Amino acid sequence: MENTTTTISSDFIRTIISEDAKSNKNNGKVATRFPPEPNGFLHIGHAKSICLNFGIAKEFGGTCNLRFDDTNPSKENVEYVESIKKDVKWLGFDWEDRMFYASDYFERIYQYAVELIKRGKAYVCDLTQEQIREYRGTLTEPGKDSPYRNRTIQENIDLFERMKKGEFPDGSHVLRAKIDMASPNLVMRDPVIYRIKHEYHHRTKNEWSIYPMYDFAHCLSDSIEGITHSICTLEFEINRPLYDWTLDTLEVKCHPKQIEFARLNLSYTVLSKRKLIELVDANHVKGWDDPRMPTIAGLRRRGFTPESIRNFCQRIGVAKRDSLVDLQLLEYCIREDLNRIAKRVMAVIKPVRVVIVDYPENQVEDMEAINNPEDPSMGTRKVPFSKILYLEKDDFQENPPKKWFRLAPNQEVRLRYAYYITCREVIKDEETGEIIELRCTHDPETRGGGSKDGRKVKGTLHWVSAQHALKSEVRLYENLFLKSESNELDNDLNPKSIEIIKDCYVEQSLANSKIGDLYQFERQGYFCVDHDSKEDNLVFNRTVTLKDTWAKIEKSQK
Ligand code: ATP
Ligand code: MG
Repeated sequence: MENTTTTISSDFIRTIISEDAKSNKNNGKVATRFPPEPNGFLHIGHAKSICLNFGIAKEFGGTCNLRFDDTNPSKENVEYVESIKKDVKWLGFDWEDRMFYASDYFERIYQYAVELIKRGKAYVCDLTQEQIREYRGTLTEPGKDSPYRNRTIQENIDLFERMKKGEFPDGSHVLRAKIDMASPNLVMRDPVIYRIKHEYHHRTKNEWSIYPMYDFAHCLSDSIEGITHSICTLEFEINRPLYDWTLDTLEVKCHPKQIEFARLNLSYTVLSKRKLIELVDANHVKGWDDPRMPTIAGLRRRGFTPESIRNFCQRIGVAKRDSLVDLQLLEYCIREDLNRIAKRVMAVIKPVRVVIVDYPENQVEDMEAINNPEDPSMGTRKVPFSKILYLEKDDFQENPPKKWFRLAPNQEVRLRYAYYITCREVIKDEETGEIIELRCTHDPETRGGGSKDGRKVKGTLHWVSAQHALKSEVRLYENLFLKSESNELDNDLNPKSIEIIKDCYVEQSLANSKIGDLYQFERQGYFCVDHDSKEDNLVFNRTVTLKDTWAKIEKSQK
């Protein structure tokens, strides 16, 4: 990946792995995996895990597998699998030929379960889900043994086989690991490792009527793939003893080391798949790739680049304690990248018609404009200027406050790359009083935006030529949620998270834009061409606003 600005910083996981490598553990090999469950689109939290797992593999000369953790047939589907592949690739990572499915291991995992039974370490239990919960005890009280705990190995093997054959209804039996009903860790109180589910699976179809539980399938999938370091989020810390118990009891050849890190929480949004699904299903947003969503697909459509997301993941680092990351950091990262790469253009979002009364009727002048002051190699372009322009309505005030440097009656301002103009007359709709046109004069001596007599103006405004500009639609976004954390869908959605503005005008040079093209609209922010665009109506998403634009433009004009 061609990111030269990012340096690799170390963290506690990299320290562990580097020590393992030094002591030649696993013959110095490093193998990680990214194991999404295909039950939703990936979000920015997953990006953290992807950057960590694929990043570590790359830094240590190892490998990282993409594994679909598809052990729960009811919520999984192929659309999600495809979206996950697309998003991981787009982020810049490559699993090469190592794409796997936990469902590929169903037969082997089943055999491991049989092996556990044979070792006297698993039994078929007929208690209901509710009874199992009751028998489990609490943090302060030990659990009670299930009355089925002491079934013979033969009986267990027979029942488990019949579960597999589909002889029993859902919920009538489960297979449980036989560990310790008095363990201080509730996870170790004879956890369920297989359940009956007569359900269609997106890959194995109707082949199975029993499915392994996450805790059982995950460690075995890791082991089967020869993973050396199984990196997961903090909530699995209490499951680690079960991870280790399973692999120790089965005496498998490969026993990966599970390491937990803190999941990403981001302010003003939600990163739980359950909530994201609800947002989509309840039409609070327009699909998984709605630009307000914290999904990779949403961020991509919003105009985020893979580099900016990788840099964000790099900056937040990896720690062992949960924290809330400020959404502004993510915005900072995309600004930083777009500042470098985005072409500056002029676009008028809320237009007012401006007539330059002393400018010749049919004249058009090409004004030279700089594409990116940060990167001279991006060159310049010609922007047509003519008698009738559009300016931003908000850049004019008839009765301005003090220190108003923009347009006002008899006040001179600079039009970027063009002329100094002075407003002479305000035309209003007779009935509504709304301003419909501003009549201005220009100083021909100021062509290009500077005056020969050293006369200074404080305001610089963007504009487009009315006859050349392209009509377009702009979508502005705000935070999806109102609160920085603990947002609930019922109360905390921001009703103003999207503003759609039609009849905007962008400069002519954007005519051949492609979907995904990124621009800075001077003074307004960074924008991305949306796939809703039509040939005669470009649609732009505002990726992020600008900071300190005003100061910057002033500086660059001096
Ligand atoms: P959710 O809790 O939102 O449903 P999940 O953890 O069930 O997400 P998976 O598809 O199982 O989603 O996640 C795949 C990998 O991504 C896991 O290893 C998980 O730990 C990691 N992951 C998920 N969410 C985050 C997050 N917010 N920050 C960092 N890693 C995450
Ligand atoms: Mg999960």
